[in-house]
Order: sequence, then C-alpha cells, then structure tokens
Amino acid sequence: MINTLAEPGKIFFITDENIYQLHPEKFSGKKLIVLPPGEKFKKQSTADDVILRLIEMEADRDSLLVGVGGGVITDLAGYVSSIYLRGIKCGLVPTTILAMVDACIGGKNGVDVGVYKNLVGTIKQPEFLLYDYTFLTTLPKKEWINGFAEIIKHACIRDEDLFIQLENSSLEELIISPLLVASLIKRNVEIKYNIVSRDPLEMGERRLLNFGHTLGHAIENIYHLPHGHAVSIGMIAAAKLSKRLSGFTQSGLEKLSSLLKKYQLPTELKMDIEKVWQILIMDKKRSGNQMKFILLHKIGEGIVKPIGLDELSNLLKELN
Ligand code: ADP
Ligand code: ZN
Repeated sequence: MINTLAEPGKIFFITDENIYQLHPEKFSGKKLIVLPPGEKFKKQSTADDVILRLIEMEADRDSLLVGVGGGVITDLAGYVSSIYLRGIKCGLVPTTILAMVDACIGGKNGVDVGVYKNLVGTIKQPEFLLYDYTFLTTLPKKEWINGFAEIIKHACIRDEDLFIQLENSSLEELIISPLLVASLIKRNVEIKYNIVSRDPLEMGERRLLNFGHTLGHAIENIYHLPHGHAVSIGMIAAAKLSKRLSGFTQSGLEKLSSLLKKYQLPTELKMDIEKVWQILIMDKKRSGNQMKFILLHKIGEGIVKPIGLDELSNLLKELN
C-alpha cells in the first residue's frame, strides 16, 4: 500500500532510539532517521534536525515521511511533513496505546515551546495510519497506564458501555490479551475519529476531548507528572466540578475514582492552587474572562460549559 504513495527510494522513516533498538527488523533496508526518545525532544530544534537530514537524503516533493512511534514521534512526523517543502505526504504507525487511541488521530501535530505543550504546530491529516499491534509486546507497563487515562476519558465523555467494559476487565488481563486490546483500541479510534471528523477545527464537540486536560496540563507542567497521571487527577477535579455544576452524582464520582485506581492511575494530588491558577489562565481554552470547561452530565455524556474565571477560582479552592 505504501508503495502506491511513493517510490521505495522516496520513503523516509522516523522513529526513536528505544523503538529502533527493540524492533530493528521493522526498519531493515529502510531510509531511517532515529531520534532520541522523550517529550523533551519534541521541540523546534529537533524538527530542524529532521529537516536537515531530509535535505541530506534528498527528500523531494514526491517523498513520503512515515513516523513510527509514540505521540512524540507521530506529532513530529506530522509537523515536519506539513512544513517541509510546504508539505509532503505522511503516514503514521503508532506504537504506544496513547498514540494509537489519541495522538495519531485528528491531524493535530506540533512541538512544545518551553513549558507550553503543543504551542506551535499545524493541522494536517496523514495519508494513512497503520496499526501494527506487535509493537505493544515491548511497551513498558507505565506507558500502558498512560494510554488508559485517554481510554477512560473516551468512556466518560461518550461511551457508558465502554466504561462498564473497563470496570469488568483489568490492565493485567488486557496486557496479555492482544485480541481484546485490538478491539478496545478499535472502539476508541472510532470514538475519537467520530468526534474529530465532525469538528476538525475544535469549534464545539471536539472540545469534549479536553476532559481532564485543562487542569491536567497545568499540573503536568508544574509537578512533572506523566501525561496520563495528570489527566487522571484532572478528570477527578472536573468530575467534582461537575457535581456542583452539571448534576453529576456522588456515585458517578466514586465509580470514576475506582476505575482510575483499578487502572493504576492516581486520583489525588496536594497542589499549590495559586501556581496552578497562574498556568490555567494562560490556557488556550480561555476566552476573555471565561473558560470553556469540560464537565460530565453523567458517565458517558460530557458537556462543554463556559465558567466565569471568578467562579472557577472559587470552585478550585474548594476542591483542594
Ligand atoms: P506518548 O506517551 O505520547 O505516546 P512517547 O512518544 O514519548 O509518548 O513514548 C513514550 C515512551 O515509550 C518513549 O520512551 C518511547 O521511546 C517508548 N516507546 C514507544 N513505543 C514503544 C514500544 N512499542 N515499545 C517500547 N517502548 C516504546
Ligand atoms: Zn491527553
């Protein structure tokens, strides 16, 4: 299939050192750029390095760039492919749960600038996504946990049956059940794909995917938490706000908290609300003196609710 998009000599792969070391056979005989792993390399200077390598390897307008990796690599590959020669073709092969269910769907890509995540980037849909589940055999458990924060997020905002299915399963069981995981991933891809295809530019419905992320991004930066941990704590905070503002029940909150714990995600953090507030008000979701917050009406039904900054500040103080 790839060969119908570009000649074999014009296909360039990007991956990171961990993936290359664990799966060298996947890249044999391919033109390859191997980057150091980790979010701290998701920055403009890494994109510039990739561009220099592409020039050296004589990539031209008919070339195809294929990102094989977690969210960092798929975001970088998408970004570079959208700016190199004003845009070349791109394919993504996600290798983490998080990238499979979230990062590689929807066309958002980009790099971080200092503490600001994804501040610079473009929206460009890849020509293809390829799911090769054999990569998951080497994925460390902590990365499975990270990915499940996004899966639980999807269940909360859109799919009560998925929430129940997760309650009846466990991480240990899923890690050793490739068929179950494949069907779970497929269901999550459908949830995200349905939302982003109806609202590619995030004017409305796509905002639901930020559930747990507004507070999550702030504490991820301040306390250097893994993304999934920060989102998990952010979802509990948003569920508590939902109890006050959108009729979410105490039993819903308890169910969400138990499910997150079941998937080994944290639900509490003693935070410095002043510091959190300073980062929150810089958030992309703020407009004037309101913030569009994602709340739950019930499990399986997320809603977008504008909250005044004064009210939000008071509510957050009560949460701690
Ligand atoms: P994300 O969590 O956004 O998907 P990364 O791209 O940083 O983030 O991937 C998380 C970590 O997992 C990185 O250290 C990466 O090298 C590693 N990794 C990605 N895919 C695999 C895999 N299939 N097996 C082992 N390690 C992997
Ligand atoms: Zn996320």
